[in-house]
Amino acid sequence: VRSHMSEQLTSQEVIQLTKDHNYGTWRKQKFWNPNHLVSADGCYFTDGNGKKFLDFSSQLMCSNLGHNNKAVIESIKKQAETLAYAAPFYATTARAELSKLLLEVLPEGLTKFFFTTSGTDANEAAFKIARMYTGKTKIISRYRSYHGSTAMSIAATGDPRRWPIEPRGKGQGIIFSPEVNCYKCPLKHSYPECGIACADYLDYMIANEGDVAAVIVEPVVGTNGVLIPPKGYFKKLREVCDKHGVLLIADEVMSGWGRTGKWFAIDNWDLKPDILTTAKGITSAYVPLGLCATTQKIADFFEDNYFAHGHTYEAHPMTLGPAVATIGEMRRLNLVDRANEIGAYLGEKLNALKPKHPSIGDVRGIGLFWAVELVKDQKEKTPFNTWQEKLDGKPIVVEQIAARMLGEGVVMQAWMSHFVLAPPLIVE
Ligand code: PLP
Repeated sequence: VRSHMSEQLTSQEVIQLTKDHNYGTWRKQKFWNPNHLVSADGCYFTDGNGKKFLDFSSQLMCSNLGHNNKAVIESIKKQAETLAYAAPFYATTARAELSKLLLEVLPEGLTKFFFTTSGTDANEAAFKIARMYTGKTKIISRYRSYHGSTAMSIAATGDPRRWPIEPRGKGQGIIFSPEVNCYKCPLKHSYPECGIACADYLDYMIANEGDVAAVIVEPVVGTNGVLIPPKGYFKKLREVCDKHGVLLIADEVMSGWGRTGKWFAIDNWDLKPDILTTAKGITSAYVPLGLCATTQKIADFFEDNYFAHGHTYEAHPMTLGPAVATIGEMRRLNLVDRANEIGAYLGEKLNALKPKHPSIGDVRGIGLFWAVELVKDQKEKTPFNTWQEKLDGKPIVVEQIAARMLGEGVVMQAWMSHFVLAPPLIVE
């Protein structure tokens, strides 16, 4: 397009055309005020005014390798020149190479792969697989969760982003369980005296609901505040699922790829899920790739049963080749260990802020994945804003602070009453 444009657009025109002719965020369109991003390098990007920003949220917690990685860029060029597209029923070199690498880095037992173009449709695949495999319908998700934005995955999203599409979402067979949040337990318990009551509650839910195909969890909840389950939780959850013949889906779209200081968050607890979904860091967001990985046992079922699923862009070579390069770069730069090293330093500095600021309720994190939760008062743990206020477009305190930070040249993810701090794993 550019070579056919007689004049280059000004930044103002870029912003106006974008706003006038695109849908933007899940909030009301009139509150969408995009910045014009021009270029990015390492942990920084530059806007149309030449201002440089430190990308302290890795865009949407996905640019793990940072921007302008030469090896990944080369792999994109090479793939485009060699084989830019192939329909999903072909074998391709990129597909074979990536499969081989995935067997090395994914948690043990996940050996069969379905490639998508986002985390959302990786979860769509997971839901369909779980239903076809078990012959059951219901999916249990959690209130503080995000699983994507298509009809089914937004219905499975617990946070109130789903409200505008309800009651249709409710018809999709999703039920919600309380989140696992030891800072502010929805069951009003405290760990370890609780004996992990949240896992027992799930047992109770499944027994009383019946017809449950799967439980989907973000092993470390991302957007909704870096919620890290207590020790012993996943062991109990696995037992509960096995007891009821329910599949366990680990949504590692955000928590995977070194973010938590292991290749995958579940590696921190040795959890063996039946299905793992991921996206984002799999290509460090250079190209759009998602993955739904299952055990051989599930895959075997589809040897004799029709796998009613697929996309034109499934296993798109342009996404698979760069994923091979991304994993290679993660290994070369030792980024999984680095997430632990730098993350420990970041955590120390964030924790040091807490005693000085009465508005900081909690600082929590794992690897290079941290949240700072703000509260009106530390004892009551009252958040600054409600969901309804956000949906109505009312000022949100953390967003106002993030806007100030943006003015200072630092980008952080602000959500309801907390910040998610997740810089690229190459951050100095
Ligand atoms: N699941 C989780 C845990 C996510 O954080 C996201 C996106 O932020 C998704 C699913 C959806 O992925 P995508 O935006 O690639 O469709």
